[in-house]
Amino acid sequence: SIQEVEDAPEDLKERAPIVTVMGHVDHGKTSLLDYIRKENVIAGESGGITQHIGAYGVQLENGQKIAFLDTPGHEAFTAMRARGAQVTDLAIIVVAADDDIMPQTKEAISHAQAAGVPIVFAINKIDRPSANPEKIKEGLAQMNLLVEDWGGKIQSHDISAKTGEGVKELLEKVLLEAELLELKANPDKAANGTVVEAFLDKGRGYVSTILVQGGTLKVGDYVLAGQHSGKVKAMQDERGKKVKTAGPSIPVSILGLDGAPQAGDKFSVFEDEREAKDIASRRTQLQREQSVRTQRH
Ligand code: GDP
Repeated sequence: SIQEVEDAPEDLKERAPIVTVMGHVDHGKTSLLDYIRKENVIAGESGGITQHIGAYGVQLENGQKIAFLDTPGHEAFTAMRARGAQVTDLAIIVVAADDDIMPQTKEAISHAQAAGVPIVFAINKIDRPSANPEKIKEGLAQMNLLVEDWGGKIQSHDISAKTGEGVKELLEKVLLEAELLELKANPDKAANGTVVEAFLDKGRGYVSTILVQGGTLKVGDYVLAGQHSGKVKAMQDERGKKVKTAGPSIPVSILGLDGAPQAGDKFSVFEDEREAKDIASRRTQLQREQSVRTQRH
C-alpha cells in the first residue's frame, strides 16, 4: 500500500542525478536543454531524442547517466515544490556571459538554495564577441558565491549552447557534484515517484510522464497519482521506445491512468486496484468540497 517503509542500507543502489535548468529569460536554458537532447547518443542507438515528454535521460560516453527535467525555468521547479515534490537533486543555472546577473538569475539561485539543491553555473553564449565570463564570475563572487576559478567550491563552466562548446565538460562537472550527494535508491520494490506532466492524447488517452524515484515501475502495475488511478497499459521512454520497466531516476510516459494528474503529484504503486481507485475518488471528493468551501467564503 501507500506506506513508505525506510529502505535497508544494503538495498540501496546508486542512481542518476535529476537536474533542473534555471536562469534568466533568454539566457539560453531552452537552447542548452535542446543541445543536450539532440547531441546525446546512447550507446547502440543513433540520433537524438525527438520527443518532448517533460523529462529525458542522457548517458555520457563513460556510461554515467543524468536525468533532466525538460521544463526550463523556476516556475516548474517552484510549482512542484509547492505541491511538496522534491525531485531535483541539482540545478544548472544558466547565465549569459554577454549580459549580467539578472533578477531571475538571483531568484533561481535563491530557489535552489532554499531547496538545499547544489548549483552548477553554466556561463553561456561564450561564442559571442561581447561575452565576458569573468564579469559574471565577479558578480557571483560579490554575492558570496565563489566559483572554482575564483578560489571557491561552486562548479561553473563556460559554454555555448549554440556551438556546444564546453557542454560536455559542464555535464562532467554536474556528475562530479552529484557524486558528493551519494544519490541512492532501492530499485527492488514497488515504485514511487513524481508526475512531471500529463495530457490527453486523442488516440492514446491520458499520457502521464513520471519520474521514478524509488522502486521499479512495471507494465501492469496499479498506480495512484494525485486524484487519478489506473493500470499501466504501456510505457515509453523519451525516444518513444516501448519499455517494460523503469527504475530510479528514469523518466517514462505511461498510458492507463483515468485522468491527467498535475505536475508535482506523487505517484505510487498499489497491490490492490480497488484501494488505489478508492483513494483517488476520496481525493477528488475532498478537492470538490474544498473548492465549494472557498467559493462560499
Ligand atoms: P531561455 O529563455 O533561457 O530558454 O533562452 P533561449 O534558449 O530561448 O535562448 C534565447 C536566445 O539566445 C535565442 O535566440 C538563442 O538562439 C540564443 N542563444 C542561446 N544560447 C546561445 C549561445 O550559446 N550562443 C548564442 N550566440 N546564442 C545563444
